[in-house]
Amino acid sequence: MKMQYHPDDATLLGFANATLERNFAVLVACHLRHCPRCRQRLRQAEQLGAELMQRLQPAEVSADCKQALFDRLDESTKLDPAERSATVTAQQHEPLIPALLQHWPEQDFDTVPWKRIAPGIQQHKIDLGSSNLSLLRIAPGTCMPSHGHEGSELTMILRGSYSDEIGRFQPGDVADLDDEIEHQPIADRDEPCICLVATDAPLRFNSWVPRLMQGLVFSFD
Ligand SMILES: [Zn+2]
Repeated sequence: MKMQYHPDDATLLGFANATLERNFAVLVACHLRHCPRCRQRLRQAEQLGAELMQRLQPAEVSADCKQALFDRLDESTKLDPAERSATVTAQQHEPLIPALLQHWPEQDFDTVPWKRIAPGIQQHKIDLGSSNLSLLRIAPGTCMPSHGHEGSELTMILRGSYSDEIGRFQPGDVADLDDEIEHQPIADRDEPCICLVATDAPLRFNSWVPRLMQGLVFSFD
């Protein structure tokens, strides 16, 4: 899989230090599993984080806190090296990948219980509690409403492709968008485009018809 667009370094750093929202972390984990370039960047981000930690001034911690830390270290050294390395890999790259995405890119999305939300657009919400993560299935040639963002939006292409003002996104590619970007994705005409979308705030549509759709498509219930 040849990927051209990746999560930006700030997103990877957030993944490395576990400060990403759960929906973003799941999407990044799916991408990392198939992207050697980002796994390498992630290792660099982790090293950077470790160096920053070393430069911090020592601070007094409670006896309970110290004991908890030592207990965790004891637990980790009980594992043999192979087991320890496997645990780290699982924790870093596959923390919460839903069953639905475990077999991607071979995954058959025909069995997903899609819900039609607009002409040419179907959605399946992945249950992550309050965190907003959806699969979208966009019919060939369908134009998504032009929109901006109040917060961040991460989109990973699972099948097919779409094009927008930024470029052409193909399987594995991630669009990492912030509140300054407005775009209008159009699914390419050869096959449906299936993508995984994580958002942390409502999208900002630029005309009134999609605004009516907003509650249906990207609701935060
Ligand atoms: Zn990547």
